Amino acid sequence: MPEIKNCPGCGKLYMEIGRKLCADCYDQELRDEDTVAAYLREAGRASLEQICQDTGVKEAVVLRMIRRGRITGGVSYPCEACGRPIEAGRYCPACANQLQQELSALQAANKPAEPKTEAARARDRMHMLR
Ligand SMILES: [Zn+2]
Ligand SMILES: [Zn+2]
Repeated sequence: MPEIKNCPGCGKLYMEIGRKLCADCYDQELRDEDTVAAYLREAGRASLEQICQDTGVKEAVVLRMIRRGRITGGVSYPCEACGRPIEAGRYCPACANQLQQELSALQAANKPAEPKTEAARARDRMHMLR
């Protein structure tokens, strides 16, 4: 069942039929992909900034291509956490490591019963007084 949605690319209403963009933006994105692919064949490797500057393709579009695996390797773009240039994933190895550690620390901290809040301790004291 097709749905009427706002295109995330241009904001126009469009009929969603399995694509996340309206026909115009979808065509544009295919053209952009070709442009960037051709550019990378020439350049070998480039930073996200260079690609956007030289091809005029929007940064968000290039990033989407990278995330969807349409571009693999040869492009460096900033780590989402610290901004250091990376060529794969969303974070540099250092940030990925740190996020992983923070995550396991969070999970470890969540396992035992929650530390008592001030209110809970006050309630305990009230019970003892009775
Ligand atoms: Zn659109
Ligand atoms: Zn980083």
